[in-house]
Amino acid sequence: MIERRERLLGPGNPLFYDDPVHLVRGEGVWLFDRDGKRYLDCYNNVPCVGHCHPAVVEALCRQAGLLNTHTRYLDEHILDYAERLLGKFDASLDRLILTCTGSEANDLALRIARFNTGGEGFICTNATYHGNTAAVYQLCSIFRPFEGYGEAVRMVPWPDSYRALNGLSGEALADAYADEVRNAIASFEANGIRLAGMMVCPIFANEGLPNVPPGYMAKAIGYVREAGGLYIADEVQSGFGRTGHWWGHAASGVVPDMLTLGKPMGGGHPIAGVVGRGDLIDTFRRSEMYFNTYAGNPVSCAVALAVLDVIEGEDLVGNAARVGQYVLRRFKELEVKHEIIGDVRGTGLFFGIDLVSDAKAKTPASAEARQIVNRMRHKGILMSKIGEHDNVLKLRPPLPFSEENADLLMTTLDEALAAL
Ligand code: PMP
Repeated sequence: MIERRERLLGPGNPLFYDDPVHLVRGEGVWLFDRDGKRYLDCYNNVPCVGHCHPAVVEALCRQAGLLNTHTRYLDEHILDYAERLLGKFDASLDRLILTCTGSEANDLALRIARFNTGGEGFICTNATYHGNTAAVYQLCSIFRPFEGYGEAVRMVPWPDSYRALNGLSGEALADAYADEVRNAIASFEANGIRLAGMMVCPIFANEGLPNVPPGYMAKAIGYVREAGGLYIADEVQSGFGRTGHWWGHAASGVVPDMLTLGKPMGGGHPIAGVVGRGDLIDTFRRSEMYFNTYAGNPVSCAVALAVLDVIEGEDLVGNAARVGQYVLRRFKELEVKHEIIGDVRGTGLFFGIDLVSDAKAKTPASAEARQIVNRMRHKGILMSKIGEHDNVLKLRPPLPFSEENADLLMTTLDEALAAL
């Protein structure tokens, strides 16, 4: 199959694991390969309500058998969905535009911000990913666009408390990272580039899921707003209960001007979108054409509504908070036992385990992280790694993850670490 993929799809299509997995079925937190081997899914956030949830499958089949068109006809599904979804945000965030992917949502948010501010300049972090369109790829710092970066982007260090800037901590650290944002704004000004805004994932998931120094976001966004820019929270990973709150930006208390959604929104079905302040969206809408053929179609909206129903009906946000605390405690036990674990970080059901080869120097143990991920795959547990140094074990299971699932994860990881 690997040879066939290369022949038909070309090289460079990313695959997980040295020995890739061929999955054929999913159910809840479990995945099954073609030989019937069962894997505990500790990685996939997209099927947030669990793989193939019957209520989501039923909603999809029912609407697909009835009608699927686009938003140029009247249809109540998109309105029912918008009402339900917007009710979950601060009252200032009262408009929704649907897209099909997180990349499209971010692309559109950049456009709306630039339109409203008259600025071009965007600030992002130095170890991030926000999507694959030409405009959004300009903010991609973990891969480099082949054409290089234009004048309209500045990258600031992500707010890492573990390998902290200048060894600082607490408020001084928050100030130091926020000063980097102020410097980026000054650099735009010095080059005659007007600021449009700052786009960040509110939990800095792709950067390595740091414990964000308290106060950092308020200070950084304060500088952005003083300079006339907007705060776009990329909630493509952090949204829909992942953090034990509905939205990742809740922890900082800073309400974004716009935010983008994706991945878990349709539980696997491609639906994404921009939520924003009415004044920003309305001025853009009145002047600029935006239509997206598939976005907001009745099937996608029926599916997304079913996902909301399940998250609420099964209290999955509460589950993420409760089980998340338990998992974090168990990881901290492993941290005491295994020297290679330098730092354990987590928010809700999203965890980063920072592996180090030298605890004092905090030297990233990238090769070992890769070994662990591959070893766990053979032991029937799926996870991955992230971070600037690719040394942070990344775990982000479907939200119905239980303490019993966590116990299996811990026993297996304990064995894998002991065998390093
Ligand atoms: N934003 C973030 C934070 C992401 O992690 C990703 C995908 N990994 C995207 C945006 C892009 O989403 P999509 O792949 O649906 O275009």
